[in-house]
Amino acid sequence: MTTVTTNLTARAAELLAAMGAEVPEGGDLTAISPITGEPLARLAADDAASVEAKITAAHEAFATWRTTPAPVRGAMVYELGQLLRQHKAALGELVSIEAGKIRSEGLGEVQEMIDICDLAVGQSRQLFGLTIASERPGHRMMEQWHPLGVVGVISAFNFPVAVWSWNAALALICGDPVVWKPSENANLTAIATHALARQAAEAAGAPVEVVQLILGGREVGEQLVRDERVALVSATGSSRMGHEVAPVVAARFGRCLLELGGNNAAIVAPSADLELAVRGIVFSAAGTAGQRCTTLRRVIVHEDIADELIERLRAAYSTLPIGSPLEESTLVGPLIDQRAYEGYAAALKSAVSAGGTIHAGGSRVAADEHPDAYYVEPAVVELPEQVELMHTETFAPLLYVVRYRDFDDAIAMNNAVPQGLSSSCFTLDVREAELFTSAAGSDCGIANVNIGPSGAEIGGAFGGEKETGGGRESGSDAWRAYMRRSTSTVNYSTELPLAQGVTFG
Ligand code: NAD
Repeated sequence: MTTVTTNLTARAAELLAAMGAEVPEGGDLTAISPITGEPLARLAADDAASVEAKITAAHEAFATWRTTPAPVRGAMVYELGQLLRQHKAALGELVSIEAGKIRSEGLGEVQEMIDICDLAVGQSRQLFGLTIASERPGHRMMEQWHPLGVVGVISAFNFPVAVWSWNAALALICGDPVVWKPSENANLTAIATHALARQAAEAAGAPVEVVQLILGGREVGEQLVRDERVALVSATGSSRMGHEVAPVVAARFGRCLLELGGNNAAIVAPSADLELAVRGIVFSAAGTAGQRCTTLRRVIVHEDIADELIERLRAAYSTLPIGSPLEESTLVGPLIDQRAYEGYAAALKSAVSAGGTIHAGGSRVAADEHPDAYYVEPAVVELPEQVELMHTETFAPLLYVVRYRDFDDAIAMNNAVPQGLSSSCFTLDVREAELFTSAAGSDCGIANVNIGPSGAEIGGAFGGEKETGGGRESGSDAWRAYMRRSTSTVNYSTELPLAQGVTFG
């Protein structure tokens, strides 16, 4: 083990202790830092019996939590937000150590957790339904939103803690206990977050059983997905995972909220502010080492400005600092693991075979220093047309460029992939901007103008269409996914008129 890993291990232990987290040591799970690719700790995974016990505890807690007034439930989420403020630096650093995000993005992830807590606390006083005019005299119809039940949250490695909070903050104020199965690549950050959530429950006088954490691989997730007591499975990860999870939940008529893979494009029109476009593209494509669901993977650029844009991208990419995410100057950290690197290398090879020209990057770096870690130069590859390869998500900093002549063709290319998460258009032409965001424009859940596809904020509904799964989280009316709707008709008259003028006897 290198000295760097020894230091990371000690630092991770210090951060976990500062957040009051107890690590279940020993066992089959390995916590690895992608900074060196070496193990930080061995952890005990949950087994079938402990998963069963935790789901049971959450289910039992539902009986009291669902009748706790929503603003009182909000008090727990308020406490969570306060604890996250207090521990923002520690949790952000742990995210950098375990997921490889640069410091600013680790902190940004925790800020996003704080933001959703703020939104959820306000929302706890706004769980409202409609009253509807009845056709029958002396009758009132109303809609109420009631707590749904246990919510199972399955999360991916790349937003190891924020994804839980997008779900948990809303689920908790809606009256639902939460059972969390984090990514097998991000157990330490999950343990820390879970400890803070339990402290928040204690501080607010809420039952601690409303938050449960189950650690392990896919089989632990599968058990959660199968369990009929889990009313909603909110699953974030690859479209492959969604294909496995959705039919299992559907077979038992449970509810799914799916946040799956993206394959996000930016159209760059002739009128674009190129300086701004380049900054937006580089952040969206190379930031987080290309490991965001909203990462920019395809640039569709007008032929008149393509050469200039590519030249500017080449210049920007040549100065990107790659290295340890803990160094303040680093902008591109490591890939999560060897498999991610193999995906990057294979996609690059296929792109070249398909007639692609590599304009920037494409190589692994720092392999001598860290043989088990995978740092790569973000790559820009131009292709003669939108080939089949560009229809799949490669979770790495690999940006494809294709040229267009006609704006309608550019929109068609944007929409031609199976995924439908995020999209963007750089243009100063108001007709193009409006068309892009219209019903005839981008078919994605997110359609931005003059910013890249990456970097959503709390408040707007987040999610996408097609293979992205159709779920919406974290803003707008996303809270409704965590509740069940009940329609009540109340008769305050002495008559019993039937609807539709039906008579009976
Ligand atoms: P992954 O699909 O490998 O794993 C995600 C989670 O699902 C993990 O916790 C894993 O253990 C679990 N899982 C896998 N198969 C399962 C099964 N059959 N039953 C139950 N649980 C199962 O994804 P990853 O590599 O961790 O993350 C990267 C992927 O996540 C990318 O495709 C990315 O686009 C996507 N993602 C999407 C969003 C979004 O909001 N749309 C956000 C973040 C990441």
